Amino acid sequence: MTSRPVPYQKGRGRLSPRAVLAVIGIGALAVLVLWWHGTPAVSGLGGWLTGAGEILGLLAGYGVVVLVALMARLPPLERGVGTDQLARWHAMGGRYIVCLVVAHGLLILWGYAVEAHTSLTSETATLLTQYPDVLMATVAGFLLLGVGIVSMRAARRRVRYETWYYLHLYTYLAIALAFSHQFAVGASFVSDLTARFWWSAMYLSVALLVLWYRIAVPLRAYARHKFTVIGVKSEGPGVISVYIGGSHLDELAAEPGQFFRWRFLNRSLWWSSHPYSLSAAPGTDLLRITVKDTGDHSRALAQLRPGPRIRAEGPYGAFTAGRSDRGVVLLAGGVGITPLRAMFSTLPGPVTLIYRASSEGEIVFRDEIDAIAAARGAKVYYLVGSRAQIGGDPLSPRMLHSLVPGLDEQEVYVCGPPGMISAAVEALRGAGVPRRQIHFESFEF
Ligand SMILES: Cc1cc2nc3c(=O)[nH]c(=O)nc-3n(C[C@H](O)[C@H](O)[C@H](O)COP(=O)(O)OP(=O)(O)OC[C@H]3O[C@@H](n4cnc5c(N)ncnc54)[C@H](O)[C@@H]3O)c2cc1C
Repeated sequence: MTSRPVPYQKGRGRLSPRAVLAVIGIGALAVLVLWWHGTPAVSGLGGWLTGAGEILGLLAGYGVVVLVALMARLPPLERGVGTDQLARWHAMGGRYIVCLVVAHGLLILWGYAVEAHTSLTSETATLLTQYPDVLMATVAGFLLLGVGIVSMRAARRRVRYETWYYLHLYTYLAIALAFSHQFAVGASFVSDLTARFWWSAMYLSVALLVLWYRIAVPLRAYARHKFTVIGVKSEGPGVISVYIGGSHLDELAAEPGQFFRWRFLNRSLWWSSHPYSLSAAPGTDLLRITVKDTGDHSRALAQLRPGPRIRAEGPYGAFTAGRSDRGVVLLAGGVGITPLRAMFSTLPGPVTLIYRASSEGEIVFRDEIDAIAAARGAKVYYLVGSRAQIGGDPLSPRMLHSLVPGLDEQEVYVCGPPGMISAAVEALRGAGVPRRQIHFESFEF
């Protein structure tokens, strides 16, 4: 199945990670100014405890909005920072926010108890029963804590991805429950209408962005592009390609290296969407993904027949290559070949592909890769087998240097299992490749 390729283009409108972090930092400073402005004086132990609790509460209220914005699928963030990096920031930020929320609650409780010369137990009862909306906010705090615990690495490994994902959606409920107590009892807002206006505007803007990019845009794309399964092909043991037809696909401005979240609308798969990278350059009416059977969803894709419609969200991801005067090295491990295969046929300039696999059976697209390499005069190295069979570590700095002379001058794109990515990045650094020239995509969020 072939289609007219969309001309190579680098998506516009991307924000650099530094710019995004700078904006987040400026926002946090503005929050401190807001507290300063709303707090004429602080005195005594109770005052200091309450003041610290208020600052942490404000930072938590701001932080949850940032966390939601990072996951709102905003194209400039998705293209500029990359979904995997955003997910890492989100996970790290989530841990801080849960700590801020817990510390906020405890400090406020302690501060109020000191100021009222009462015990913590009786102040807890007073706060929960007599202060408006504090009970709801407390429930919200426990919800956030619960989500935080389920998201901890050890706990997350024990629950199914879908279970974790749907539990995670309770954070939206928590944010809604906690919102009103900020205005009802927050010293920075109680009598400051302007502060209330801007704080509400921040929450509302992010809510609208989420609704727009996570719901409206995919629905519009579904209607406009009419994504449909048009064929499934076996590529090797446990690996299949799904061919997806559609209209006006050039308008998506998808780039080789990017991925979509695919929701196949048949009886068994409609309820979950999964990320898969494009494994061929996007065409004007055809896309291809290639999937390795690693669990329920990826296994079920082999049973697809032509016909089902698909809801596709994307394109996402910053794992794309621009025009570069330097040579490019593509380093693939196992099924990590998929985005690199798409880049291999489209990247301008000299390219070397290194494909690491544990066995010959794991190599997919061999014919395609060899044909592309011959057509564009690119070098391809298949590093197949165990270290013992290869006679050493195939991803050592020495081996990489021997395969690619002048490696440290090149842009390197790495994709594969998490362990292979970290080993490859370490070897590349050992081979003298500067960090800014190493780009990688993890298949795990
Ligand atoms: C950016 C990106 C691009 C990817 N591209 C490809 C590709 O081109 N080819 C390919 O074979 N695989 C790709 N993957 C991996 C693929 O998404 C998972 O293997 C697949 O979702 C597993 O689902 P499952 O139900 O079959 O297995 P499960 O056993 O349910 O999941 C195995 C692991 O996959 C991850 N996972 C499961 N469901 C999801 C989900 N809905 N969203 C995110 N992660 C999930 C979790 O880490 C989970 O532990 C990609 C992953 C990411 C993040």
